[in-house]
Amino acid sequence: MSEKKKIILFGASDSGKDAYQRLKDKYDIVVFFDNNGAKQGEKFCDVPVVAPIPPQHFDAEFIVITSHQWKDIYEQLNRSLNIGDEKIRIGHALLEKSKLIRDITILQVDEADNGKINTDKFEIYWLLGYQCNYTCSYCFYKMKEKNVFKVSDDQLRNATNNIASLHNKKIKVDLVGGEPTIFPYYQQLIWDLEKLPNVEMIQTETNLSRSLKYFEELFSQTVNIEKLTFSASYHFEFAKQDEFIEKILLFNRYNVRIGITFMAHPDKLQEVKRFIDTCSIYETKSVAFQLAVVLDMGMPDPRYKKSDLEWINSVNDIFRKNSNKSDSGVCIKYQKDGGNIHEIKISPRRAIADGFNDFRNMQCMAGMDSIRINEKGDVFPAMCFWESSKDDFCRGKNIFNKDEQLYFDSPVICPFSCCLVPSDVRIKKR
Ligand code: SF4
Ligand code: SF4
Repeated sequence: MSEKKKIILFGASDSGKDAYQRLKDKYDIVVFFDNNGAKQGEKFCDVPVVAPIPPQHFDAEFIVITSHQWKDIYEQLNRSLNIGDEKIRIGHALLEKSKLIRDITILQVDEADNGKINTDKFEIYWLLGYQCNYTCSYCFYKMKEKNVFKVSDDQLRNATNNIASLHNKKIKVDLVGGEPTIFPYYQQLIWDLEKLPNVEMIQTETNLSRSLKYFEELFSQTVNIEKLTFSASYHFEFAKQDEFIEKILLFNRYNVRIGITFMAHPDKLQEVKRFIDTCSIYETKSVAFQLAVVLDMGMPDPRYKKSDLEWINSVNDIFRKNSNKSDSGVCIKYQKDGGNIHEIKISPRRAIADGFNDFRNMQCMAGMDSIRINEKGDVFPAMCFWESSKDDFCRGKNIFNKDEQLYFDSPVICPFSCCLVPSDVRIKKR
């Protein structure tokens, strides 16, 4: 007999399939719920699909809502079927907090400290591929496909030329993975991009696992090193502490800005505490630290005790004070119960966690001041459209094509009930 907890997934669709892939090893997925009568009675991912009924019929612990339309489904389960909150999980939102702000109408979203749409600004979020040299136990990406998309010199040249021909003067390129530095063309891409006058900043999200020599080579051959910035994560299951510190010192020597997120693995908190103490003396103007909670289904991993989470918050308060940074990133104007208009400045992650991410029916500037590029080079207005029909949203654009126009010329009406990706939350909406 299986010892895994039995659960139900709501939504026999692409996002349901994605949730199935992520959860099938950990849980026994007994059934899919779906409101679509045509799907009921069929199988999805080899699991029966049925109309929603109380979960006790299947001896299941809880139901996971996998769809973007989670609010409507939550109402259906909670109100119509009388299923309690403790039996409902929403992948990316904290249910309690979301319920508190159910009556809020979002009026405008913008980058903090910048009231107007700035046509000079353009952000390119570029996923080089899902491959990574680590296999962290909490990693979402490890479930994704492992096929490597090969990029030729010509394709790389086309990509650089396409970015060069964007009229915007302040382009920020985010290179992400998997682990972007393991792709053979990563260094060349950096050296091509940093020479473009319209590229203002190139940020790499990395686990900093490449050798000291690799980064030394990268920095020593970069002409405009002030354009480089790194967002690194430290993973206690794989990273080596001494080597990591040597790399921090190298970044310091070259004056390259780096933000380091220590993933506070719930089973390794003593080690986390010791290493943070060791590292704190390396905090400088160009090196900033933060601690991150490991999430399970969008919520803090259940292995944390309340005091662990309080400790993580208190350490982050200190880090924030040291780096002189406020918890900002996105500015949201909202109205509660049709009353006064409020304004908050918070980080995109916080906006998601607190449920301030319902942008349904708003005009989203996705595609006009930011684009997302997938591992094959396809260009989308935002990450939220990756799983949707490619032709509708990508319009055949690919960064590796010759003479491709990368931007989209009209805003998108947000079709979803919540915006789930922090970098997408930052895209302007009104
Ligand atoms: S380093 Fe990041 S991308 Fe790689 S396995 Fe760990 S969490 Fe995933
Ligand atoms: S979900 Fe997509 S369309 Fe909607 S606000 Fe987010 S980025 Fe824009």
